[in-house]
Amino acid sequence: MASAVVGDDVFGEDPTVAELQDRVAQMLGKQAGLFVTSGTQSNLCALLSHCARGDEYIAGADAHTFKYEGGGAAVLGGIAQQPVATEADGSLKLDEIVLAVKPDDPHFAQTRLLCCENTFAGQPQTAASLAERVDLAHELDLVTHLDGARLWNASIALGEPLKDLAEGFDSVSVCLSKGLGAPLGSVLVGERSFIERAHRWRKMLGGGLRQAGIAAAAGIYALDHNIERLAVDHRHANRLANGLNDLTGVTASVATNMVFATFDGLNDSLFTEEMLKRDVAVRMANGVSRLVTHIDVSEDEIDHALSVFAETLGMLHG
Ligand SMILES: *Cc1c(COP(=O)(O)O)cnc(C)c1O
Repeated sequence: MASAVVGDDVFGEDPTVAELQDRVAQMLGKQAGLFVTSGTQSNLCALLSHCARGDEYIAGADAHTFKYEGGGAAVLGGIAQQPVATEADGSLKLDEIVLAVKPDDPHFAQTRLLCCENTFAGQPQTAASLAERVDLAHELDLVTHLDGARLWNASIALGEPLKDLAEGFDSVSVCLSKGLGAPLGSVLVGERSFIERAHRWRKMLGGGLRQAGIAAAAGIYALDHNIERLAVDHRHANRLANGLNDLTGVTASVATNMVFATFDGLNDSLFTEEMLKRDVAVRMANGVSRLVTHIDVSEDEIDHALSVFAETLGMLHG
């Protein structure tokens, strides 16, 4: 980052940003890319570029874009949001998508876009599964966006190239700051004309940065060094889930780098306080905790956390 060659990216003159954008676009098999500050800004730029005021987009009821981004598409774009149930594997059912599409009638918003998410809650979806949704969307005259914040994890877990997982989507957003370990940044990719529209929206959203190459350099480093090693995070998550399943009253499930653990008969705040007293911070709601492994978590730390889980549960149940 300290030695990055920079320029004014508001004028498109930062060579490091340009390199990052081109590389990610190429990896995902798209014409062009746009470096943005966050995954939320990336998805919002995409939705605003695909949909106009009075249009509607379909997404999973538990999808990040729908549930965890402040309703930005509705607030800032006048875009209606139509959720459909998210299946356990993160996919959306084909017949639910068909039912959600509105007829051409002034009663309704105009359905314009289908948004998918991969991985969803750590669940990787295969290129074959995604292709069914994309093909259906295109038959229905919808454009498609993939929120691929953690698409790298899906690619490593499934052994399927990123390009295959991005195939057919009109736009894809990937995060550099999650599993890849960069301090910030996401990249939105798609056709050149789409990226030109997204570039304008990024400016309006306050995301036009000047010497952004400092941040882009971290992204390039992440592409070079931190993709293959995601397999280590997946191994650590498995180790954590297996260790938790060995404890009484705990049921853990795992996919890629996320563990969802259910703890029987515990008070959320009492448990998290007792864990914190032993220097392990966990969040829990209704007895369920989401535990995520990443580049800064070592195998020793997984084992340490497991011993603290065991000790705390023993104390509370004992
Ligand atoms: C984290 C995440 C985002 C948003 O990324 P931020 O950089 O936190 O804004 C979007 N979608 C998914 C699936 C994510 O996991």
